Amino acid sequence: MAMMLNCREVAEQASQALDEPQGFMARLAMRFHLFMCVDCRRYVTHLGLVSQVTKRDDAIVEPAEADVERTLKALMARRDD
Ligand SMILES: [Zn+2]
Repeated sequence: MAMMLNCREVAEQASQALDEPQGFMARLAMRFHLFMCVDCRRYVTHLGLVSQVTKRDDAIVEPAEADVERTLKALMARRDD
């Protein structure tokens, strides 16, 4: 079922989401997985923060929940219109 992504699929979808809008079901499935899986939350947060910390690789810290939320919102907010 489409709702159940595995971690590899989430990683692929997360990197795609940075380049192109994801459909509603895809976003929902990813959100559902990220809700349960701390590893993927960490990975997605890292992806979302890369551009912000490009020149500050000494400042990488454990992602806070707020960062996760902000990254998810940025990913999910991407619409195709
Ligand atoms: Zn996962």
